[in-house]
Amino acid sequence: VKDAKKIDQATLNSILEKNSQHFKLGKVADYIPELGKANAQSIALSVVNNDGTLVSAGDIHQKFTIQSISKIIALMIAVQENGEKAVFEKMGYFGTDKPFNHFGNLETMGKPLNPMMNAGAILTTALIKGNADEPFAKILKMIRFITNNEQIDYSHAVYNSERETGHRNRGMFYIMRNNGLIDGEGEEKLNNYFKQCSIEITVEDLAKIGYFFANHCVRYDGNKQFQDPNLSQLIQSQMLIAGMYEFSGEYARTVGLPSKSGVGGGIAVSVPRNMGIGAFSPALDQHGNSLAGYHMILDLVNAKHLSLFD
Ligand code: GLN
Repeated sequence: VKDAKKIDQATLNSILEKNSQHFKLGKVADYIPELGKANAQSIALSVVNNDGTLVSAGDIHQKFTIQSISKIIALMIAVQENGEKAVFEKMGYFGTDKPFNHFGNLETMGKPLNPMMNAGAILTTALIKGNADEPFAKILKMIRFITNNEQIDYSHAVYNSERETGHRNRGMFYIMRNNGLIDGEGEEKLNNYFKQCSIEITVEDLAKIGYFFANHCVRYDGNKQFQDPNLSQLIQSQMLIAGMYEFSGEYARTVGLPSKSGVGGGIAVSVPRNMGIGAFSPALDQHGNSLAGYHMILDLVNAKHLSLFD
């Protein structure tokens, strides 16, 4: 069955070609000014097949910032260090009908809805142990491990832009601090979050991240250092219910796979126990998800019957 689902170069090429004009209907994120500089027409699609082989098409060398896709890596490390119970005492497992930067039920329930939206993600990162930028360094190290790519680093320009404009994120931090969920110095903890969002990757790195969580946290080349079926189950479940923000329900209906988007234009997809998919195109829909990215994933899923519910 897995072999029948294997993706080849010709399939990727035709899907990319078919969706190359979608950018016209979307908009590059510019609320973080540095992101507004991205070329809207960039487009790329990549797959790590079950056997670990990589196939890619389009702008595969184009770097972009990982943004919210870093939230699944931060969740992984926070749970490794504190245990799932301690992390989810401070936040929910809820899905959402709210945008990624919404205060959610910080006021009503007193806690973030989930670790996939900003509030929960800022808290998740704050739960990673270490002083100053050590939590960020752990996230970067894990991303380098999963992608087997030591070149990965963060963009100082995007980081500075995030810091200068991230006042909603500051607002969330201080409500959570007021609610007793976080202690410590605000800017130091927020800087780790701003930095993790600014990590620059390519579409192939995203496909490797998707593969890792699809396969019990085993790397695409078979490295089992972090193998943990329970952790990949947790993370994929969060991706499925909230990884595409308020679009997650409709996305589950149409794509039906755990996925995580970022406002840099990336989407990482896990096909459980099988493959990883990375999609990139910086023009976004109204929810902050890559428009062409979504349509390429949809076409791939339909062509190869990849939905969990197929
Ligand atoms: N850095 C962005 C922010 O905090 C991440 C949001 C996203 O990718 N949706 O606003």
